[in-house]
Amino acid sequence: MNNYYLPRGMRPSTLDERRIFYTSEFDLNRVREWFSGWSGKIVFAVIIGRHTRIYPPEYEEDASTTILIENYTSLEDIREWILEFLPESVYYDRNIYDDQGCVIGQEMAFDLDPENLTCPIHGSLEDKMRRRQGLSFCEIELKMVKDETIRLYDELSKAFSNLKVVYSGRGFHIHVLDKDVFSWSREKRGDFAREVKNKGFMIDEWVTSGDMRLIRLPYSLHGMVSRIVMPIDASELIDFNPLEDERCIPGFLKPKKITS
Ligand SMILES: [Zn+2]
Repeated sequence: MNNYYLPRGMRPSTLDERRIFYTSEFDLNRVREWFSGWSGKIVFAVIIGRHTRIYPPEYEEDASTTILIENYTSLEDIREWILEFLPESVYYDRNIYDDQGCVIGQEMAFDLDPENLTCPIHGSLEDKMRRRQGLSFCEIELKMVKDETIRLYDELSKAFSNLKVVYSGRGFHIHVLDKDVFSWSREKRGDFAREVKNKGFMIDEWVTSGDMRLIRLPYSLHGMVSRIVMPIDASELIDFNPLEDERCIPGFLKPKKITS
């Protein structure tokens, strides 16, 4: 990652920091709350070190692999798996499965990232790729993505009544939790994604159509930027600043309190 630039204060987390976060700060009660409206088993996934190249040595071969976690009985087991892999990223599968493992629906989501916009200083994703800085982003880009999220939220509010905004580390996700949308067909989701894109919104169509079904798990650690993935009330977005917002900053980056 030596060629990368990130907004001030953001940097990759070390393995020790990942361990500290998932041992003492990762809030399973809030994760449980996030899934309170779900039916069926949730599939989780981790990527250990694809972008950061930071991984436990025993997992070198699988550092870039997307590892699905389906074998668990409680969320406490998920914490144990995460502590085993110490991943840079944790996701969940938006598909809804029945008891036989057949897909019976999907949560729809919109993904807004710096990849999809052009920075006045750093240019487009193509420009960055040419400089081998594909995943880099700056504070201007973060602000642009936030403004885009506010616009998209207003637009989606015309069609849906239960939307949740999540700060994802590099950008934002908007989850659609309206019950009827979970049963939309792949085709209907694809059409809707195209429609939104055609209105000029810089979304990742693959996420909304459902071809990319994994999405970052709220309350997990984004290990490339050392920020906590955090649901944000839409009304707070305008003043939200992930560089300074206490809710998103993991304990290992907070100044140590002096006790005497
Ligand atoms: Zn930039």
